[in-house]
Amino acid sequence: MTGDFDDILTANKEFAEDFTLSGFDGVAHAGIAVVTCMDSRIDPLGMLGLKPGDAKIFRNPGGRVTEQALEALVLGVHLLNVNRVLVIPHTRCAMSSSTLEDVRRRVGESAGQDASWQTFSMVTDQEAALRDDVHKVQAHPLIPDSVKVGGFVYDVDTGLINPIV
Ligand SMILES: [Zn+2]
Repeated sequence: MTGDFDDILTANKEFAEDFTLSGFDGVAHAGIAVVTCMDSRIDPLGMLGLKPGDAKIFRNPGGRVTEQALEALVLGVHLLNVNRVLVIPHTRCAMSSSTLEDVRRRVGESAGQDASWQTFSMVTDQEAALRDDVHKVQAHPLIPDSVKVGGFVYDVDTGLINPIV
């Protein structure tokens, strides 16, 4: 790793020079938790008009409500001031526009070896998956009805989030 991250470490030193987030607590000051995709086109805070300190962000391929996402949301709701949850997959997501076979083939080609054993949580119907995911949050026994849960799709071409459920 020697040298591999020098550019990042340099940038981090500059960041730390005018660091303003020290002394921050870890609660979500705007009461918001977001589950969204790892896609680099998404700026989860910026697209919602939020700033550091405002929200809990959980990201994974596809922006899915996985077991670990639920773990994060339960912690958020009970210990970190979360009272609204937004689940936000996005348009042109590779997880919903490719097939499992295709992704395994492409990863296998890149890796130069068999990738057929690797799990990829592909989505065949993004809107149906989103409805299921929102329901998973609402139905969780440790997430009370007072917590508002919404499902949206972020449009990577316009920057708008469209309410779905
Ligand atoms: Zn995506």
